[in-house]
Amino acid sequence: MIQITMPLNFLGSVYRDMRQALIDMAEMFGLLDRAPEVRDRPGARELRVAGGEIRFDGVAFGYEPGREILRDLSLTVPPGGSVAIVGPSGAGKSTIGRLLFRFYDVTGGQLLIDGQDVRDVTQKSLHAAIGVVPQDTVLFNDTLYYNIAYGRPEATRAEVEAAARAARLHGFVASLPQGYDTVVGERGLKLSGGEKQRVGIARTLLKDPPILLLDEATSALDTETEREIQGALRAMSAGRTVLTIAHRLSTVAEADRIVVLEDGRVAESGTHAELLALGGRYASLWANQEGGEDAA
Ligand code: ADP
Ligand code: MG
Repeated sequence: MIQITMPLNFLGSVYRDMRQALIDMAEMFGLLDRAPEVRDRPGARELRVAGGEIRFDGVAFGYEPGREILRDLSLTVPPGGSVAIVGPSGAGKSTIGRLLFRFYDVTGGQLLIDGQDVRDVTQKSLHAAIGVVPQDTVLFNDTLYYNIAYGRPEATRAEVEAAARAARLHGFVASLPQGYDTVVGERGLKLSGGEKQRVGIARTLLKDPPILLLDEATSALDTETEREIQGALRAMSAGRTVLTIAHRLSTVAEADRIVVLEDGRVAESGTHAELLALGGRYASLWANQEGGEDAA
């Protein structure tokens, strides 16, 4: 009996780790992108998160030699603080998120979490500390309950429901004839973009990570859904360190600090009001986007 269950349990946990890695990758890269290349350093330690400070210190990075995407990038997200990164498409915003997750190693400078270089800690402990709410949450062909509880499989029913409530998802689930037992995904109920995102938020709330990486993608959502999602995100962000990769400006105004990335460098940084007063790149991005939205 023991001889049979032990290897099965072992395989079960390996399988779960593999699936989690697969989800994290799918969420960060899109399914078609390649696998990460980095490995734990021999003797790597567990990341110890105190306040959750994120510090990019003179970071340089390129996907291929001879083409730098980030150069001398320095930016700090204080413990419990929030920084939003904005900038034109291709500026390197998503790359910053991939480096935080250590899908790639920096080629210059260093990236520290609470003073620990991410290259010195195990990837497992690093990934456990960071919650990602991606543009497109991956759903399993399984029940809503399973899909939410995936964030922490040992969670109790009450915890799962509390997470769903905080993610503004419980009302929707309660309205379904089979409630939390409703099967979703490709072979089940198809969820809207906003519903999927709320499943992602509930999942992350259950995981309860000290650091959040939000790859913001509200562009596919209507204004009302976006407002609801923002409410859920705001509730989730309280007490955590938040790095937002922003694709729209309407949602970054509340960040403690906004960083405008251009050509892999920090072009401007400050609060929304400071950057508007500066009358530089952010101010013109803002003016353009507002105009664009009005016209739409
Ligand atoms: P943003 O999120 O600001 O739009 P990205 O960080 O996704 O920009 O990309 C920055 C640059 O890096 C782009 O020029 C992009 O083409 C390039 N890039 C992104 N991913 C890869 C990759 N896996 N391999 C090579 N180049 C990449
Ligand atoms: Mg991007």
